[in-house]
Amino acid sequence: MKTITARDMIKTIKTHYIDGAFVESHGQEVMDIIRPTDGKVIARVTLGDEEDTRLAITAAKRAFATFGRTTKEERASILRRLHQAISARIDDLTSAMVEEYGGVVQFARLIVDSGVNAFPAAEKGLEELPLTRSWGKTTVTSEPVGVAGLITAWNANTLFICLKLASAIAAGCTVVIKPSELSSLQTQVMIECLEAAKLPKGVCNIVIGRGDVVGAELVRNPDVAKISFTGSVAVGQSIMRDGAATMKRITLELGGKSPTILLDDAVLDKAIPAALILAFMNSGQACAAGTRLLVPISRLGAVKRAIVDAMFSFAVGAPADPKTGVGPMVSQKQYERIQSYIRKGIEEGADILVGGEGHPEGFEAGYFVKPTVFVNVKNDMAIAQEEIFGPVLCVIAYDSEDEAIQIANDSKYGLHAAVLGTDLPRARRVASQIRSGRVVINGMTDDPQAPWGGFRFSGVGREYGRYGIEAFLETRAILES
Ligand code: NAD
Repeated sequence: MKTITARDMIKTIKTHYIDGAFVESHGQEVMDIIRPTDGKVIARVTLGDEEDTRLAITAAKRAFATFGRTTKEERASILRRLHQAISARIDDLTSAMVEEYGGVVQFARLIVDSGVNAFPAAEKGLEELPLTRSWGKTTVTSEPVGVAGLITAWNANTLFICLKLASAIAAGCTVVIKPSELSSLQTQVMIECLEAAKLPKGVCNIVIGRGDVVGAELVRNPDVAKISFTGSVAVGQSIMRDGAATMKRITLELGGKSPTILLDDAVLDKAIPAALILAFMNSGQACAAGTRLLVPISRLGAVKRAIVDAMFSFAVGAPADPKTGVGPMVSQKQYERIQSYIRKGIEEGADILVGGEGHPEGFEAGYFVKPTVFVNVKNDMAIAQEEIFGPVLCVIAYDSEDEAIQIANDSKYGLHAAVLGTDLPRARRVASQIRSGRVVINGMTDDPQAPWGGFRFSGVGREYGRYGIEAFLETRAILES
């Protein structure tokens, strides 16, 4: 007889978090959560509906009457409570991300840590942000915008919830969170954190459900003043369009096709591993992934050899194994999307340097793909213009620095970019000409006070630090005669 282990147990999730309590779902649709490493069902989630969402919005609206008038210090104390409660569950949040999303454990931990750090970062941002300015007989104040709907994507659900929640609380907004339905295990832990933080009732609510049901209700409901969204361009566009009916304030964090410019003075031993980390972080399922590597034509041969040599660091494997570089894709749909782009790249005439179609050997179950590097890519090919959202890197050759900048900017996106080179003033000069929300020099790095967000189709508005808080504020001027 087969022994049933904890790994075989199917979890059941049936509650939302509304008005400071665990509330049974009114919605009845049940969705399976599938483990990406083997395609097995690991949880069943009862999804919320419009009525669950309206209940949460009503609770948030009621709470806003008081919370919207809190002082900086009162908000800071809530941020500290959230930080404490979520810090206590870092391991659980990381394990849930590994289990239901297939996040590589080392990276999943970094993501969860960044989420936890969003609370002290927001506290610092709030401290530095003047909420009242006066001159003569005029007083200008920054007021919380109202109830905010926070809608997140699956590739770093915990981080997005924390970032948006921290900024909203710092601004004095109450919230209804609609996490990605594919992240329900992580969300369950987050709900327990909110309960442990003992926030005033209704300040923070979570409804688990589908985007076109729970998300759409948030976008349409006149009692929601603001939507902060992380996800795809198509859904972002629909939110902008549908939100116009109730004049929603909107922040959209959308996709990318980020360039990495390798300058001709780059030291390849350092620059190529840095470029590959940018391309394959979070198994390539990252909005900021540096998926276009722009290489001086004179160094193309050496770069190709360096890429092949460095690929051992991006071994495919079980996400829970700390030696793994690239884990499975989140779903069958995502697996097929990557395959179709690899086929498209071949049809368009690009050459495969590493990887290719199909499952990697030994990983036939689940949604594993081969980390793939294309060479002989032209920037107008679909694989260089469209967001693939998987571990697929395009190497594009350039003749001059000006051409590299022109190729980098020749994209409908503008979220993130990187410049790799030894001459720092030159790297800075190149960085200053790239039309993206963030440009990193000599490798991936982060600063929780620096703004995050995109030019063009990569989005509208900014998150992080005081920029993130400002996105939840309205300005009021009082003038005395
Ligand atoms: P998605 O747009 O399919 O879903 C995102 C969220 O929107 C989910 O919670 C979903 O349920 C919800 N949603 C779907 N339809 C909706 C509707 N009609 N109204 C309201 N909400 C709706 O995106 P995804 O597949 O979860 O995430 C991948 C995308 O997210 C990629 O394009 C990626 O680049 C982008 N992304 C951007 C950032 C960033 O910071 N710029 C970060 C991570 C991911």
